[in-house]
Amino acid sequence: MTSLKDKKIAVISLGCDKNRVDTEKMLGVIEDFASLTSNAEEAEIIIINTCAFLASSRKEAIETIIEFNGLREAGKLEKLVVTGCLPQKFIGEIFDTLTEADVFLGFLDYDLLKEALIESYETGERVNYVGRKKTVESKKRIVSTPLHYAYLKIADGCNNRCTYCLIPYIRGKYVSVPKEDLIKEASSLGDVSELILVAQDITRYGEDLYGKMSLVELIKELSKLENIGYIRLLYCYPDVIDDELIGEIRDNPKVVKYIDIPLQHADDVILKTMNRKGNRDGYLSLINKLKTEIPGIAIRSTFIAGFPGEDEQAFENLKSFLSDAKLFNAGFFAYSREEGTPAYKLKNQVSYKIKQKRVKELYSLQKNISKQNLSTFKGKVLKVLCDGINYDKQMFEGRAYFNAPDIDGKVYFTSESNVEQGKFYEVFVERTDAYDLYGRIYNELT
Ligand code: SF4
Repeated sequence: MTSLKDKKIAVISLGCDKNRVDTEKMLGVIEDFASLTSNAEEAEIIIINTCAFLASSRKEAIETIIEFNGLREAGKLEKLVVTGCLPQKFIGEIFDTLTEADVFLGFLDYDLLKEALIESYETGERVNYVGRKKTVESKKRIVSTPLHYAYLKIADGCNNRCTYCLIPYIRGKYVSVPKEDLIKEASSLGDVSELILVAQDITRYGEDLYGKMSLVELIKELSKLENIGYIRLLYCYPDVIDDELIGEIRDNPKVVKYIDIPLQHADDVILKTMNRKGNRDGYLSLINKLKTEIPGIAIRSTFIAGFPGEDEQAFENLKSFLSDAKLFNAGFFAYSREEGTPAYKLKNQVSYKIKQKRVKELYSLQKNISKQNLSTFKGKVLKVLCDGINYDKQMFEGRAYFNAPDIDGKVYFTSESNVEQGKFYEVFVERTDAYDLYGRIYNELT
């Protein structure tokens, strides 16, 4: 039987933070039968963990596969493995066409990675293992973020069925990870200053498994872990943010006073055609309630511009909502017409040009709001988690409570004394702009 123990494997992770956690678990699987390398040019085996929920992410996945396939001549590449959302949903279309790849696995199949590779080596054939597994057994994980923060994927799939979204057709229905498994996983991550809870919708955690929303219970359990410093909540669904959760964010000192609530739009007609629960007034009163109950809370959201039927008035309604909501930060995306979703068939599709123009307009509107929010920190001292050094700016780089990694701004600061990654510091804020803050060390905290 072929041995893989002398093989070097490189892994490329595309897509969202949920996919990153899948990649980290795949690294844990690989470590048991081969060695890992971060240098693709010296790898005999390259794995590309793909994203596929938008046409642009499928394009990126295929371009990445073709690019790394180029290492068959230039490098040592013997086997190219494609995993994740692209094969999970599109294996029927890509197996015969994507001949660059030797092995295909879905997002639940990577326990079978070794077996699939050995079969491909021994038969010389291309193999398709997509959909062979219903769950992932291996619990080992190799964290790929800087070690002082980590993502915890508490569930997968989604039952919300937004009409523009392919994710339920790729990842299936909502499946919570058992609490005891999450506690074990979180306690195995070492000292983590910031644990970031992710799923397609974290607020529905436990509904399938325990018959009731159990996110607050999970947060309480995770808070007991001494190796976990703070807990940050991403992907909360507006209609299930209740008093219990608001109370937990307010009263639990380990929960970061930050919440990410993807709202997607704020025009009631558009929200209805998106099959989003809730409406403009409901969203606004939720935001005001959060700000009243938890003074200083940073609320982040994401919105889609150019959804079918979004006329000038609907777009104006979205803009006026942003002006009223005064969110801390927000991301904006042009609607992507995805075949297989109900919205694909809708009339009144908006032109590419108008979509791009509206996204730009929304960013500039939010930029002024964010600038105003951040300016209130000038001359103040902020608690900052150091993420490392920004060599371009010749400054240390960190994040305050209102900055999640990768999607929000940064705090850049200087210091006479040495500064360590993963430690908290007090930073005196000297300058702010629309997204970032600049300052100097005021005091070392822990
Ligand atoms: S909540 Fe909506 S947008 Fe998010 S994953 Fe579920 S169906 Fe997609």
